[in-house]
Order: sequence, then structure tokens, then C-alpha cells
Amino acid sequence: MDVFATENLRNVALVSHSGAGKTTLGEALLFASGSISRMGATSDGTTTSDYEPEAVKRGGSTQLALLPCIWNKNKINLLDTPGYFDFLGDALSAMRAADAAVLVVAADAGVEVGTEQMWQRLKELNLPTVIFVNKLDRENTDLFQTVEALRQGLGRECVALQLPQGSGQEFQGAVSLLPAPESVPADLQSQFETARDQLAEAVAEANDDLATKYLEGEALSDEEITAALKDAVLQRKLVPVVAGSASKSMGIKELLDTILALLPSPADRPTVEADGALAALVFKTTQEQHSGKLSLVRVFAGTLQSNTEVYNVSKEQPERLGQLQVIRGKNQEPVASLATGDIGAVARLTATSTGDTLGQKDHPVKLNGVAFPTPLFSMAVFPKSTADLDKLSPSLTRITEEDPSLRFTRNTDTGESLLSGYGDVHIEVSAQRAQRKYGVNLILQTPKIAYKETIAKTATVDHRYKQQSGGHGHFAHAMLRLEPLPRGQGLEFVTEVTGGSVPREFFPAVEKGVRRACSEGVLAGFPVVDTRAVLYDGSYHPVDSATMDFDICGYFGFKKAFGDATPGLLEPIMLIRVTTPDDYTGDVIGDLNSKRGRILGMQPQGDGTSVVEAHIPLSEIQRYTLDLRSMTQARASYTMEVAHDEDVPSNLAQQVIQQAQQKKEEART
Ligand code: GDP
Repeated sequence: MDVFATENLRNVALVSHSGAGKTTLGEALLFASGSISRMGATSDGTTTSDYEPEAVKRGGSTQLALLPCIWNKNKINLLDTPGYFDFLGDALSAMRAADAAVLVVAADAGVEVGTEQMWQRLKELNLPTVIFVNKLDRENTDLFQTVEALRQGLGRECVALQLPQGSGQEFQGAVSLLPAPESVPADLQSQFETARDQLAEAVAEANDDLATKYLEGEALSDEEITAALKDAVLQRKLVPVVAGSASKSMGIKELLDTILALLPSPADRPTVEADGALAALVFKTTQEQHSGKLSLVRVFAGTLQSNTEVYNVSKEQPERLGQLQVIRGKNQEPVASLATGDIGAVARLTATSTGDTLGQKDHPVKLNGVAFPTPLFSMAVFPKSTADLDKLSPSLTRITEEDPSLRFTRNTDTGESLLSGYGDVHIEVSAQRAQRKYGVNLILQTPKIAYKETIAKTATVDHRYKQQSGGHGHFAHAMLRLEPLPRGQGLEFVTEVTGGSVPREFFPAVEKGVRRACSEGVLAGFPVVDTRAVLYDGSYHPVDSATMDFDICGYFGFKKAFGDATPGLLEPIMLIRVTTPDDYTGDVIGDLNSKRGRILGMQPQGDGTSVVEAHIPLSEIQRYTLDLRSMTQARASYTMEVAHDEDVPSNLAQQVIQQAQQKKEEART
């Protein structure tokens, strides 16, 4: 493929609610521009972007795909993104690499939750946007209605750029308002004039010069309106709406024209000041079956050359670049270089991971990576067999490198490996990907809760350990007192022995036994905390007492005393902050209450949302990502952090203890 100048590039993220037709549209755009010779279908897994088995299986995109197409001597780098909530990470990566977006809306569905979410992100990132109303071939669709719904649901900045001709089965395409066609179909003439007036008015409102002319009643030329419109789109004052049917290839060439005419090239966007030096961002890393690690790069400044040495500014290390490529789905074509603004791929980088900047050592410029929300849904991962054991950690580390919205961590309290993401589907698809790419078979389970054991009352024990066997015997005698400590104090061992009833040399042995009993747990195998053990008296035998005897005595003595000290369980309590639209505040609070949550407060934010703050047991909110999503139609979000430990109510503690004992039995048999 040729090298394209910055002005002749467009980097466009395709975003939508899941199922609006992005992948079909991407395919139609590639086909219309002559980049592929036949259109694949998502239904049989033959599209250019959804080639991953996980995507084929789900019937929807699971990761972003780069689809360059050439149109009128310009290159449009389409970034097809997955729409499902769980794959938000890739949508954010695509938006970071793009200069503009096409938001796809299904005419028969209108503004959906995912549409709102993507819109919100596009607004935050100030990305110039065109809306494509898709599926106008379907019955009971109406472009006018959809445009009105967009204006109400998203904002008044949405303006129609086309008029529909017919609808449903009779849909024949859309007529452009700008530039006006040579002849407007007679039956559309009056509609056309009204719509064009509305467009001109909207553009004039966004542009002071035109506003004056418009108000003075002067006619505005196509060129004037187009120039002003492009400027308004760049500033995100206006969002043009075009229409068609991706599966019927209608309105596709018009969309390509609109992208070139109205969406900015990288040269129109805020530039990265690098004084001619290179600054390129690796915004996505994948592992391809045959070619290995593949990094997608967006050049923000300078030129990226094939087969050169660059400098990884983030890692402060040199990096050898091999052959640069441009991709089309799973196929790659070599290119000599990528100009400022362009997007391409390079295989087998060694030091570089997602989010890193490639630049020059003599003039390092570091670019911002992608800001991913913290993943809050976790599953524990186990190897299916011993053969999978060694592969687990390296394969999941690589999977998280491909998808940095995932986290792979170890919970030191429970000893489990955890994979965290944006939902159950995210985790399942990632596990499938790990299996396919690295041959590791994983079992996913709800993570264990790090319960702890503690006592509520003081208790004492007088414990003797005695054994007579053959030669000399074994003897140890310890008197222990257990006292509850405030939360978070952990474990203390002290001695109050007077008069040498137990010689000093045996103290460490008693302590060792006590600590072993504590780490093993007494009730259900959870570690004992917030307890002070006092060795206050005892006795010994000058011949028979050995260190080991006091160790054993401390161990069993502690266990006995623990049972008399009103033992119970502690559980981790989280501080959770839910940001929800006001309409759902009641539901959110009711649900938190039903999950043993304690509401700490509620602050209206003055923008139609409120923040609800609560303390809540971790065991109740392990699936909260999914619960909150269904309760609020995915309109709420939350953060959480560990707060402290609290007593488990005794009826629940009983259940936990029973389950733990059952597990122990099972393990034994
Ligand atoms: P994505 O999840 O946004 O990538 O959506 P897909 O491209 O996978 O499309 C979802 C479904 O809508 C598929 O069954 C497509 O065949 C169908 N679809 C996409 N575009 C159109 C269209 O223009 N008209 C009709 N009738 N169906 C469409």
C-alpha cells in the first residue's frame, strides 16, 4: 500500500450499542471502496473484522479491528470496536487512536444504553462525530423519527444531512442535502427545502460570520455551508446524521464521502509538539497465531520507518522495529513507512507493550496512554490439570498485555489467582482466548472470601502435654489466657511468667505453637486475628521437657482456649460508591440494604445523578458489576475499596463454617 500524507488520512472509530451493525457497516465500507471483493457476513463468521473464533462464536465483536480503506485517494483507517459493555477497553483504545468517530444507531432500536455510553465517551474525548442511522431497510423505521430521538436523547447538535427516500422494504436510499443533488425527486421537493433550511440554520448558528449573512436573508452557498459545517463538526458543535442500510449496501458511498468531507484529518486535530521528532503510541497488542505478537501503532508526530531502531520512551529502552504493515482484518501488507497521523502494525516488538510511546532518544516525547476504568468483576482462575499449571501465569500475563483493561493478580489472603475485568463475558472470552492461543485450560470460579477467625471474650486454659514412651518422657505445661484485641491489631503473644515456672528458653516454642494454630485456624481454617495470647504460668520437668514439647503444648492449648473464648468469623467490608442517575437511587439503595449494606450517605451531583456511599460485605457484591448493570440498564457505575473487617452474623458464620468443614472432608476422602 502507498504512503499517505497526513491531510489524506482519516482515523475513524466505529462505535455503537452492540448489534447496531458496526461490523456489517465496516464490511460494506471495505466493499464499497474496493478493498475487498465480496462482503462477508457476521452470521457465518466471514467478516474482515470478526475473524476471531470468540467473536464468531458470540456473533459479535470481541476486540477492535483495524480496517483501512482507500476512497478518492485518501486512506480511511476504520477502527471497528466491540459494542458490548464488557469490551469497553477496546472501544476506549480505538477512540484514543482515532481523530473522529462514526456512531452507528439502528433505526429500529433508536438511542440505546450503549449509544448513550459511547456518546458520553465521545463527548469527553471531544471526538468529532458523524452518526450513521443503519437498518433503514427494516419495516417500521423512519429516519425523521430517529433523528428526533437522537436530538432528544443525545443532544440538539445532531442534524440531518440527508432525507430518506421511502422506508422499510421500499427504502431506496437517502438524498443528500449538502451538496444538493442536480435534481430533487418531485415528491421530496418541499421536504427537501424545509430540511435544507434547517441545516443551513443550524450551521449558521454555529458560525458567527454565517449567522450575520443568514439573518440578513442572504443565500448561503454549498461551499460556505460545507466549510462552516466542517468547522462546527471539528469543534463538536454539530453532529451530522446520515443514513442507510449496511447489509443492503445503501448509503455507504455517501458515508465515505461524508467522512472525507466533514471529519477531520489528523492535521486538523490538536497536534503533538515534537519538533519533528517521532512520537507514536502503541494502542493495542494482539497475539496472532502465525505471526506472533503484533502491535498496533498510531503515529502522532514524525514518521515511523520500517527496519529502524526507535526508542521506547515509556520504558526508556531501545526497540528494534521490523517491517511495518497495514492490516486488513487478519491479512497484512508491508509498507515502508507510516506518516504522521497514520495507523499501522509491527510484529514482534520485544520491550514494548500497550500504552507505550515509541520515539527518539535525543528528543523523547511521551504520549498519554488509554485511561481504562478499574475492572471490578473478578473470577478465580485454576489450572484444569497439572499440565496447565506452569502455563497459567505466563499465558494470563500475555492476555492482560493484549487487553490492559484486564487485571491478573494474586490474592495473598486466599492464595487464589484472580482475573478481573468488566464482566463475566469479558473474563470468559479472555479465558477462551488464553486456551486457543496458549493452550492453557482454565477453570473459573467465584473467588473465595478472605474470612478470618477471632474471639469476643477472654478465656484461659491450663494445658498439660505428657507422654511416656520407653526411655525418657515428654512434658510441657502451659497456662494461656486469650484476650480479644480491637480490629486490625492482628496477633500478639506476650509472657507474664514469674519465678521461672516456665524457663525463658521455652517461650519461643510456646509462641511458635500458638502462631501455627492461628495460621491454621480453629473454626474453619481461616487465620486467627485480633487476639492476644498470654503465657502467664505453667511448669516443666528438668529431664523430660524439650522445646518441641512446649511447641505442641502451645498449639493444642491455644486451640482449646479459643473454643471457650466465644469465637467467630470476620469478613472483609468494602467501601462502595455508586454513581447513578437519580431515577434509580431508590433501587440502588434498596438493593444495597438487601445485601447487608450500610448506607453512609447520598450526595446529589446536580447533574441528574447521585453518589450513594455504603459499607458492604465483599461476599455480597462479587457479582455487583452485573447486578448494577441490569438494575440500572447499565447507566450507573461504581468504585470500591477495602475498608475493614467486621463480624459475620452468627447464622451466616455457621454456614461458612459448615461449608469449610465439608470441603475439608471432601479433600480428605
Ligand atoms: P455490531 O455488533 O454492531 O458489529 O453489529 P453486526 O454488524 O454484527 O450486526 C448485527 C446484526 O444486524 C446482524 O445480524 C446483521 O446482519 C444485522 N444488520 C446489520 N446491518 C443491517 C442492516 O442494514 N439492515 C438489516 N436488516 N440488518 C442489518
